[in-house]
Amino acid sequence: MKLDVNALRYLTKDDFRVLTAFQMGMRNHEIVPAELVDRIAGLKHGGTYKVLRDLLKNKLVHHDATKYDGYRLTYLGYVFLAIKTLVNRGVFASVGRQIGVGKESDIFEVATEDATVLAMKLHRLGRTSFRAVKSKRDYLRHRRSFNWLYLSRLAALKEFAFMKALGDHGFPVPTAVDCNRHCVIMSLVQGYPLVQVKELQNPDDVFDTILGLIVRLAEHGLIHCDFNEFNIMIDDDEKITVIDFPQMVSVSHRNAQIFFDRDIECIYKFFNKRFNLTSEKNEEQDGSESDGEGNSRPSFLSVKKAAGSLDKELAASGFTRKEQVEMEKYIDEDAEGHDSRSDDDDDEEGVGDAVPIDSLKIGQDHIDEPDCNLASRDSGVPGTFSEEHGKSCSGENRLECSPSGSNGDAKEPLESEGMMFSQENDDNEGISLDDDDDEEDAELTKKLNKQRKKAIAAAHGRRRPVSSRNAYKDKGKGTMNSKIQRQVCKW
Ligand code: ADP
Ligand code: MG
Repeated sequence: MKLDVNALRYLTKDDFRVLTAFQMGMRNHEIVPAELVDRIAGLKHGGTYKVLRDLLKNKLVHHDATKYDGYRLTYLGYVFLAIKTLVNRGVFASVGRQIGVGKESDIFEVATEDATVLAMKLHRLGRTSFRAVKSKRDYLRHRRSFNWLYLSRLAALKEFAFMKALGDHGFPVPTAVDCNRHCVIMSLVQGYPLVQVKELQNPDDVFDTILGLIVRLAEHGLIHCDFNEFNIMIDDDEKITVIDFPQMVSVSHRNAQIFFDRDIECIYKFFNKRFNLTSEKNEEQDGSESDGEGNSRPSFLSVKKAAGSLDKELAASGFTRKEQVEMEKYIDEDAEGHDSRSDDDDDEEGVGDAVPIDSLKIGQDHIDEPDCNLASRDSGVPGTFSEEHGKSCSGENRLECSPSGSNGDAKEPLESEGMMFSQENDDNEGISLDDDDDEEDAELTKKLNKQRKKAIAAAHGRRRPVSSRNAYKDKGKGTMNSKIQRQVCKW
């Protein structure tokens, strides 16, 4: 993914207001009609339509007239919102080069005011395995929309919560710094993914350390579920850091043993293939048992799972049971997408494509998104992802509407937490639109100008714009349309 943050510097407060309105609209609309965004943003003098043109130009929203006329927040738009929030919060001040591309994420360097370099992980669930997922998931098969922005946000929240808890319990993981929307900020690991390492001084020791970690994690009640050479970083002193936690499950998960064995198997296979560490290596390890061929490997059944209950602790961290279930559904059905990439995959999307560190000077405003509600955070930001707060969250995040330009319908509660994305348009939206969009752009600009004029006229005449009276009839709680939409959004 190419992330050009320069555009971010020129976006105004109103641009972000409208962008945020899109995000809110997408909680219960797959495609958000301009009129609805206008009502949520509440800008005067048809400002929304003017802003829309810029957002389209910067590919932060995407026009979609397939089902009805409207727009969708793009991945890039969502990235901009997260970056802006974190920059305004003082978490970092500039964005650097891309340092990694995962199965379902993009990782960039970011730097703080005092030049400390951190890692920013942008989650993007469903990116590579999206088509496979689409065809096989029962719970999605009957839906026309796949809420992957919502899942990305859940993944970030879960990753942050787990990273923090693991770090607090002495596991070698990056330090969890902050998170917002689908974005997690963590310390930068000095080292390389194990998959890139061709030679080790002490392969036996590294092997033992890694197996020991899998066992210790299980003793604390957790299984990584993607514990392999892609998610283990190693430095020049052969010190290990484990990364990538959104798929972790509790040892009480019904498939816990399978996941545990798979993690162990991955390590055995890799060390065997890469470092010629054969299974003859037969030393005694905690929680190990013979596999019948004279080899001892850690066994799930003999792991003493009493040492900790991190899984329970995490349940109280703000990552709710419902969210855990939703993530697990995703993980279960996406099991075959399990980091099975070849080494080459990492080159695919321009890893190392340096984007010079650019200072981001972004105007402060109060448009924000509820983020990680971990006990340790003291953000004071209203609203969280937790079930209990889900409703108040959407309410508190509604943008205040100025009386003019609003017809009162902006008070429509946006109850669902979900943000809808259509299945048809997955990978490329927001990142590269076709060139023949130019023609459509001209049309759109014309249309937006017209809508803007109408909105201004309506504001002057204290009349509701005709378009908002007739073109889009879903105006709130009471209507059948909105009931259906809310229903559709529920998981
Ligand atoms: P995914 O969940 O998509 O697999 P990962 O968390 O595994 O993403 O990250 C993908 C790659 O990004 C890693 O293989 C690693 O090279 C790099 N990376 C991720 N986190 C960090 C970090 N904290 N410090 C340095 N590099 C990182
Ligand atoms: Mg990974």
